[in-house]
Amino acid sequence: MQDADLWNRLLGREPPWSVERIELLVREEKVDVYLVRTEGALRPCPECGKKLPAYDHKDERVWRHLDTMAFQTRVHARPPRVECPDHGVRQAGVPWAEPNSRFTKFFERFAIDVAQETDTKGAGKILKLSWDEVWGVQERAVARGLRAKPPVALRFMGVDEKAVGHGHQHATIVYNLEKGTVEWVGEDRRKETRDRFFQSLSSEQRAGIEAVGLDMWGPFIASIGEHVPEANGKLVFDPFHIVGHMNEAVNDVRKREHRQLSEEGTRPLVGTRFWWLCGRENLPERHREGFAALQAAHLKTGRAYAIMEALRDLWAQDSSRTGAAYWRGWPFRATHSRLAPAIRVARMMKDHLTGVLNYFEHRIPNAVAEGLNSKIATIQKMAHGFRNKDHFRTAGLFRCGGLQLHPVTHPIPG
Ligand SMILES: [Zn+2]
Repeated sequence: MQDADLWNRLLGREPPWSVERIELLVREEKVDVYLVRTEGALRPCPECGKKLPAYDHKDERVWRHLDTMAFQTRVHARPPRVECPDHGVRQAGVPWAEPNSRFTKFFERFAIDVAQETDTKGAGKILKLSWDEVWGVQERAVARGLRAKPPVALRFMGVDEKAVGHGHQHATIVYNLEKGTVEWVGEDRRKETRDRFFQSLSSEQRAGIEAVGLDMWGPFIASIGEHVPEANGKLVFDPFHIVGHMNEAVNDVRKREHRQLSEEGTRPLVGTRFWWLCGRENLPERHREGFAALQAAHLKTGRAYAIMEALRDLWAQDSSRTGAAYWRGWPFRATHSRLAPAIRVARMMKDHLTGVLNYFEHRIPNAVAEGLNSKIATIQKMAHGFRNKDHFRTAGLFRCGGLQLHPVTHPIPG
């Protein structure tokens, strides 16, 4: 099988590299393609691009390429070294692969696409690569994307902390809420980590931040105050975090009440956890009747739920004036409920009221913040076996970073 011309075309090979021979290993289901370089062809120095003759050739290297008719395909070649008058003897690159990669750029592109659609283990199965190899593809993709990324104008920024890996490790995540991407991941949640993010921005970039969405129970308030000019008017405690706290409060009330009722011999709350957490518009039809009956039963859980639903209406107000007016009624209801978890949320909101009502000035895209949060939750689940925080950072940027991950595959003049 020596149709070198066909293979040259399929591989996009141009002089000075060309296909010397192809070996088909039928039993192993493999195709080996051997490339050679024209004698005397010049190669650029990897440092300065000066065209130089080959100094010598390294040992043969092998790159995994896209499969040929389901046969695993490997490209073999001996990359040359050049001797640059300014940079000495250097390994010249090959046009089909990035330095130090064991895959061709075409294969690397494909591996990135597969890895984005599934988890690392699943991608490994499809691509017949080890976990570490698929992981290497993702790490290189993120590094490539970050190198190519232009400086950001971060108008609406979000910041959060997440638990990662085993034990009590945490990461700090910065979102670009305008673009819906993960902007940055820091390896813990210490104040210095957050400061480091802000220090990576220019003073224009910091001044350009119009609003920061965050959790009022998070550790970020002080750090933002230090680094973002006029931060007080820009901090927005985002609805989905606040509703999340209120959700937890409803759940706490339900658990306590369930225990208490069980001791008294009735169990009306059993199996209803999801009903109370999902918001009235999301409750599936088949549960609606049962839920309505439960709400009419004058339970403490029902009271907590009604307080939460009333709170959600706060963000439906159309201006800071109507928002502030609506707000005045809500805490009264919450604090007079005699439900400790609801009172706790109301107090916290009162202490952070400016930031709660700043939402009406800035309208940070809550749905985007919520969507990113759930994507990150999926990564956390996928990352159950993550060995360290670097893995979480890579996964976050690989899957949500909005980066240009692919290597450039158009033929580069050899
Ligand atoms: Zn040079």
